[in-house]
This record gives sequence, C-alpha cells and structure tokens, in this order.
Amino acid sequence: MLNRYEPVIGLEIHAELMTQSKMFCGCRVVDSVTAAPNTAVCPVCLGMPGMLPVINRRAIDFAVRVALALGCDIQPHNIFARKNYFYPDLPKGYQISQYELPIGRHGALDVTLPGGRTSRIGIRRVHIEEDTGKLTHRDGGSLVDYNRSGVPLLEIVSEPDIRSGEEARAYATRIRQILRYLDVNSGDMEKGVLRIEPNISLRPRGSDAFGTRTELKNLNSFRALADGTDYELTRQAAVLDGGGRVIQETRGWHDTRRETFSQRVKEEAEDYRYFAEPDLPPLLIDPDWMVAARAALPELPQAKEARYTDAHGLSPYEAAALAEDRAVAEWFDAVIAAGGRPKTAANWILNDLFRLMNERGRSIADLPVSPAAFVALLGRVEGGEVNGASAREVLAEMVDSGGDPAAIIAARGLSQLSDEAALAAIIDGIIAANPDAVANYLGGKESLLAWFVGQAMRATRGQGNPALINRLLRERLEARRSA
Ligand code: ADP
Ligand code: ZN
Ligand code: MG
Repeated sequence: MLNRYEPVIGLEIHAELMTQSKMFCGCRVVDSVTAAPNTAVCPVCLGMPGMLPVINRRAIDFAVRVALALGCDIQPHNIFARKNYFYPDLPKGYQISQYELPIGRHGALDVTLPGGRTSRIGIRRVHIEEDTGKLTHRDGGSLVDYNRSGVPLLEIVSEPDIRSGEEARAYATRIRQILRYLDVNSGDMEKGVLRIEPNISLRPRGSDAFGTRTELKNLNSFRALADGTDYELTRQAAVLDGGGRVIQETRGWHDTRRETFSQRVKEEAEDYRYFAEPDLPPLLIDPDWMVAARAALPELPQAKEARYTDAHGLSPYEAAALAEDRAVAEWFDAVIAAGGRPKTAANWILNDLFRLMNERGRSIADLPVSPAAFVALLGRVEGGEVNGASAREVLAEMVDSGGDPAAIIAARGLSQLSDEAALAAIIDGIIAANPDAVANYLGGKESLLAWFVGQAMRATRGQGNPALINRLLRERLEARRSA
C-alpha cells in the first residue's frame, strides 16, 4: 500500500535550554516535575501588566551554539515577535518568539540509518521562544503551574526531507545527542524537556507537490515518534486508497492503544497576528560573538564517529557506541592520548568496562579509573604479565575503588604464569595423571584439548598464560602420538 506513495515528513523539536534563569526574567529554571508548583515565578513570567522583559544572554549563547552545530547561517540582526493567542497556561496572552528572523537558518544534518545509508536533512530554522506554564486537568477543573512559564525554549524546524518513521527517529536521536554534547539540554524526554512534533503527509511517487499534512503533537519518546509516524503514514494511505482526502489537523498519539486520534482541525494556517515585540530592542549578534561561539564548539558526535572509524579503524558500531555520550567519548580520547591501542581499548570499554559500570551503577563522571591506569592495565595484558580473566578481576577492583593495576596485581597475586619450564612440568603431570583422556584425544577427540587447558588453568589458579598452555599441551600430546 505504501509503495504507491512517498512519505514526506518534517520535524519541529522543542528543547528547553539549561540556563540558570528564565528567558526574560531572573526567576530560576527549576525541575518542573519535582519543584513545588508556582515557586519560581515573578511578575514578568506571570504576565503582569507593565512588566518589561530582559533578554537572557546565556540562552542566546546556547541557541547560537546549536545553530552553528547544525550548520546554520547565524542571523546578526534578530527581532523578537509576539505570537498572540489565548490559553490559560499563557498568562500574557502572547508568547515572545521569533518569526521572520530566527537566529539560525539554512542548516543541514546528516543522519545514518541502522543499515548504513546516510541522508541529509535540511534545517529550516532554529529560533528562541519562551515556554508556557503547565496545566493539569483534574475532575472538575484544571490546575496551572507557572514555574515553566518563560523558560527558554529552542525550536528546531527541519525541512520536509524525512522519508520514514525510522529516519525521523534517527534524525531526532542525533539532534538530542548534539544538544547533550553542547550542554544545552539534558535530553530527559520523560521530563518533557525535549518534545517532538512530526508533520506527516503522503504524495504519489514521482510527484513534486506536497500532500496535505497532519501534525502529531508533543511526542516525548523516540519510540512514540517512530511508531506514531508509521501509524499515521498507514492511516493516510488507507484514506487515499479509499478515495478520501487527508484533513489538515493536529493529532495526538495514544501510547497504550498505539494509534493517533484527531485533536484539532486546522484547515487554514492559524493567524497569530505576529508583530515585532515592542518591549525588546533588536538583538544584535556581532561577528566577535559568533567567532567565539564557533571556537567554543566541542568536537561533535558525527566528527568523533568519523575519526574513530577512519583514523582508529573501529567499526561503525563501535564508533557510534563510544561517541554516543560526550563524557564517554572524551574518556576514550584520553585513553588513546595516553597510548592505548584504539581497537583493544574499544573492546575493553564496550565489553568489560561498561558491564562493570552497569553492575556497580557508576557513570563515567564518577569512575575512579584514570585513562592512564586503564592503559597500564591493557599494557600488562598485552605484555603477557596478566591474563584476560585476571585483568577483568583487576579492572573490577579499579572500578570499585580506583588504584594502580600493578599494585592490585601484586596484592592479589595475579601475575600471569608464563614460565615455560614451570608450565611444562604442570602439564606433564596432568598428562601422566589422565591416560584415558590422552588416549581419547589421540584417538581423534580433539575437543578434549579444551578440557586439558581447563585442568592446567585450574592447576595454576587461573594465572597460567593461556596461549603458552595451549601450545605446550599440543606439543606434548602430539609427542605422545609419535612415541
Ligand atoms: P507550522 O506547522 O507552524 O505551520 P511550518 O509550515 O513551517 O510551520 O512547518 C512545520 C514543519 O512541517 C516543518 O518541519 C516542515 O518541514 C513540515 N512540513 C511542511 N509542509 C509539509 C508537508 N506537506 N508534509 C510534511 N511536512 C511538512
Ligand atoms: Zn519570572
Ligand atoms: Mg507546526
């Protein structure tokens, strides 16, 4: 059904900015889930008559950062605009936003799908606005909390370049990751600090014109985004196949029924009677500001991934896993800088270190393992001074309480036994004590080698050098064949 139509999708993403204070007043930005209602409010964000807003410089800094990271042109001359509408969560009766002149325009973001295909999604605009209060509907009435009123909000609007629910998800995931890299948004979607609205339409394949779109409001998980979009595409295709026409409307996503439902029909664009905000002067972003903001950008996740695959030979999967979180990526970078071999370090981090951190509830921020100590441990494995199993034990202690790997190895008596004569003596003893197993092995049951290795490891209390044990066992068993 869907192959007759081409999906056309554009995303609007709203991100609260992690500033200390609100967009236009000095009230603190508080956690809207845990803070007591209406405790971070003042006459400005309550919309009292005669109160004057003042622009939060840090919020503009954050917006410039995001716009630059998304490859946008930065508008040097910004005008705030009033978007007029009435709603109980909007005490002023208008929202201060940006209309004709957003901070950023004409950007682009490359997203890679799980299969490896990459596509470029245009960024139409990045602009600043203020969040509204929060309504809670109870039987018999509604409660309103204005703590969120006036919190700086960034809106990132894509071009309608997205072609599937999966691509929408990949795009939104990348945006969230970049916001976290830039330290402007926590990405805590369950707290509502990042909200996604896909605009969705279908057109006959080969056609250039856009079909009528519907908009899904306020999705707060990637799963809801992918599933809601797919549901909507299938629903629209059925409408079109049945000879009907799609109605332009906003729809909600029902998370338990897993379907969309109509909320509000808007046949025509709403008239918000935008006009230039008379209480604010134009916001000028001078060239020095832009240069400083660009210089302060961290290496972005796409660049990290490319460096990990191209310069360090990691797989795309390993690169993405290490670059996912900026703190982890920077820790990995420090490991490389301390002389760690990228592939080996990546393996140990993704397998053993992550598992240990999970088990012990540690994040990279409170990990007592220094990159240098980690590299020292890997060096001892590589140099044959400690075997893999013992190194894992050492790493576990390091994750718990830090420490120097050499000291832990010595204290626990974990030095690898690589003394060839000593190992040969142990192996000869095992061979002499197990004539049946030897006969079976020589009779063709090659898998018994693993059993012999196990015996030797046990005899060395887990510290034997596995590679050496393997070689010695083979040699000495084969010697029996010719004897
Ligand atoms: P608004 O929803 O406020 O009218 P826009 O018209 O700028 O704002 O569009 C919002 C989003 O909808 C953008 O991401 C844009 O790419 C996307 N969009 C516009 N037209 C369509 C369409 N026909 N189908 C799907 N997405 C669309
Ligand atoms: Zn206030
Ligand atoms: Mg919209």
